[in-house]
Amino acid sequence: MFDADSPSPVTTPRCRYAPSPTGSLHLGNARTALLAFLQARRMGARFILRIEDIDRPRTVPGATEAILDDLRWLGIDWDEGPDKGGDAGPYLQSERLAIYARALDALRERGRVFECFCSRADILRASSAPQIGEEGPRYPGTCRDLTDAEKRERAARHPNRQSALRLAVEPGQIAFEDEILGPRAFDLSATCGDFVLRRADGLFAYQLATAVDDGLMGITHVLRGDDLVSSTPRQIALLRLLGLKVPSYAHVPLLLDGGGEKLSKRLGSATISALRARGVRPERVVAALARSAGLTERLAIEAGELVDGFALDRIDRRARAVDPVDFD
Ligand code: GLU
Repeated sequence: MFDADSPSPVTTPRCRYAPSPTGSLHLGNARTALLAFLQARRMGARFILRIEDIDRPRTVPGATEAILDDLRWLGIDWDEGPDKGGDAGPYLQSERLAIYARALDALRERGRVFECFCSRADILRASSAPQIGEEGPRYPGTCRDLTDAEKRERAARHPNRQSALRLAVEPGQIAFEDEILGPRAFDLSATCGDFVLRRADGLFAYQLATAVDDGLMGITHVLRGDDLVSSTPRQIALLRLLGLKVPSYAHVPLLLDGGGEKLSKRLGSATISALRARGVRPERVVAALARSAGLTERLAIEAGELVDGFALDRIDRRARAVDPVDFD
């Protein structure tokens, strides 16, 4: 059993929203937050806000406070989080690095971690049939079985390059029942291959941090955007190896912009702060988000009013756009 501080025994369901403070909250993030909040409140669950700020170079100063403020403005509240505390804290990933290091040690003790000296270009070159997905090609296993002498030789060849740490994945299907998408199964050895746990720049990978946190925070239900569905089997593999409970997963369709593109902080998509600055009322924003998910016909509604009628199977399965006229 992974010996990080054990979570308190779970008696009530626990849900979470876990934004990365890489920019302002946009309509797509806000919709996922609203749906996670509605699921939590409908189930009588504890709702946990966790800030995923381990990727320091991508973290924007002030973004965490701004996200919390935008969520409150939308009428979304939570029971545990960086501003409220709680038994499962800390709730900022940047304050949990010692926990991730212990998880890595536990995986190392199981003989599942290896050092990888490859650059991205090395991996591309070594992949015979590179299927370049959004996360790059499948890792071809180059450094998996290096002898100590080979490791020393590789380290000496690139004295300025740090090694990354990867999980040696086993072949076989990892199956789960997505509460929205239905049954899903992935063979990690065929899709992403051995994946990164600690990057060459020393940062812990999203997959490790999120799996460890969901497990240790006693999360029972994860609701998040369906761009993360392919991460789920990696997180399940880690949770199992660490002896932590696997939550249930619901991946919701993402919101699209008028041109059919997924909204992103990077593209500066419509932010909540911009709408606030225009004087748009929160009830209008909540209504637009809820309408885009097929949950209401109303033009103005408070988040709390949507709780009673909420059910996962009422969420519109098609990715949908918010109409800009919604806010006029
Ligand atoms: N921090 C991730 C994001 O903002 C979400 C992680 C998750 O929900 O598992 O995209």
